[in-house]
Amino acid sequence: MNTFHVYPLYNITPVKALGSTLWDDKGQEYLDLYGGHAVISIGHSHPQYVKAIQEQVAKLGFYSNSVQIPLQQELARKLGELSGLEDFALFLANSGAEANENALKLASFHTGRKKIIAFKKGFHGRTSAAVAVTDNPSIKAPINFDEHVVFLPFNDAEAVKAAVDEETCAVIMEGIQGVGGIHVASDEFMVAIREACDAHGAIFIHDSVQCGYGRSGKFFTFQHSGVQPDIVSMAKGMGNGFPIGGILISPKFEAKFGLLGTTFGGNHLACAAAIAVLDVIKSENLIQNAAELGTYLMAELKKIPGIKELRGKGLMIGIELDKPVKEIREKLLFEDKMFTGVAGANTIRLLPSLAITRADLDRFLAAFAKYL
Ligand code: PLP
Repeated sequence: MNTFHVYPLYNITPVKALGSTLWDDKGQEYLDLYGGHAVISIGHSHPQYVKAIQEQVAKLGFYSNSVQIPLQQELARKLGELSGLEDFALFLANSGAEANENALKLASFHTGRKKIIAFKKGFHGRTSAAVAVTDNPSIKAPINFDEHVVFLPFNDAEAVKAAVDEETCAVIMEGIQGVGGIHVASDEFMVAIREACDAHGAIFIHDSVQCGYGRSGKFFTFQHSGVQPDIVSMAKGMGNGFPIGGILISPKFEAKFGLLGTTFGGNHLACAAAIAVLDVIKSENLIQNAAELGTYLMAELKKIPGIKELRGKGLMIGIELDKPVKEIREKLLFEDKMFTGVAGANTIRLLPSLAITRADLDRFLAAFAKYL
């Protein structure tokens, strides 16, 4: 049997990694500035993380969520403490799309409504409801579920005020649009969403799957604007490579048996991985590192001539050129041995580990500057 070939693949086979370094099967070393779509938050194969998973699998790898799993409580407590959302509740799933499915479903149960407001260039995943709120025609199957979805321009506060009404179930948005090209939500936009949802009894869902977990220099991006959503979806950096996702749910929602459910969500191994991630983020001050090195990287990039636009916050940075970036990315990968990401054709997307060093960023800056 062969795999179903739906992704373009580089002819590189990573077999080992540590921190921000990857090695392939020929022993070639690479600098990772992409972290597999923002997944690597604390660095590859962090020893404390590896130990936590190894110890857990040796004791108990999996049992159903019909029994007590104290690791879930420990994860919720530490997540509340580090994110500051201590009065929110945690529901665990396995991926970003699944987190958003649960967020939308919960909002609909709560309001009894169906209309959803989402944004152009947004991306929320590829399962049915998640793809319905994603404005990218290339990933929509003939059977699509967006009959209830209205797409508005991102960062258009007036459009939000005009569109949210008594029939609106939820507004779903990313604090920084990732796949759509690293567009940062303005404070005014965030406030408009919050106020419109409050005025009409709609639910504010903040998709933090890519921009959350410290990447922006705060735990969640909405904390830059002082606005609090009702549901926050998370995944990617949460498990540093171990598949885990979830939603944080404001106290306004009442939990009832059967409302949400899952087989794998919140399993022992995923919780052990996610707890280790939070412990390392805290003990190594990685959110502060993301803020400081993000500011440094942005300032240094501004000195390089030939960039059309720089966007982002913390360690989520988009470098837009006035031409396709494919060739430069391939040179960075095959000549300088550095992984970067892309958004659209013209934007390089940088999503390094939150533990990246200034020396690693300097290596990237020197290599990148050569090609402009
Ligand atoms: N939401 C956002 C903002 C994302 O960037 C992604 C993935 O890139 C998703 C949701 C979907 O996450 P997953 O691929 O884990 O289902």
